[in-house]
Amino acid sequence: MIDAVLFDLDGTLVAYQQSYSDFMRRIAASWQILDEGDPFFAAYSQAILTDGPVTFRSAIEKALLASGRSLHGDADEKCKRAVADYVSGIELLPWATDLLERYAHLPKAIVSNGPFDMQLATLQKFDLHRLVDEVIISGDPEVGIRKPNPAIFHLACERLRVEPSRVLMIGDNETADIKGAGDAGLQAVVVTDLVCVR
Ligand SMILES: [Mg+2]
Repeated sequence: MIDAVLFDLDGTLVAYQQSYSDFMRRIAASWQILDEGDPFFAAYSQAILTDGPVTFRSAIEKALLASGRSLHGDADEKCKRAVADYVSGIELLPWATDLLERYAHLPKAIVSNGPFDMQLATLQKFDLHRLVDEVIISGDPEVGIRKPNPAIFHLACERLRVEPSRVLMIGDNETADIKGAGDAGLQAVVVTDLVCVR
């Protein structure tokens, strides 16, 4: 029996359909970083994969500091533009609406790893937050933990007031979603096993 369903976001309901390296090159160029071997890139990747509160701006700030730079005065505006640039490349996957409707009768949450502002902007682009009862984003200061840590799955179950063993996690990542949910005592299924992939 299933009492509630958790959905991963990226790769499960939506996907970035452009080149992520091109996006990163545009971001770096806006800070006059043109060398692709610059430590900025590794520092940014590390910053967005860290537990604790994370936003695009905080990750950029860490990456700039780690590569011997600092934020300029117009950082807020640049970061806002960058998040908009990122979200313009996100598209709803063809099965997303059907999948959410299939579980319309059950409590639902989206459980996503990522910077708080980027994930929120993604949800808002497609109004996905209105189709679920709870949104749990690792970079949210009130969350601060990433899948596959069982604690993030338990937080989702608590918020939905359901027993972990009666919750189904649907995701595309074998480690973060499937193993993580399994370790937390949930049921889990890979999204491609549920839908007809074009
Ligand atoms: Mg995913």
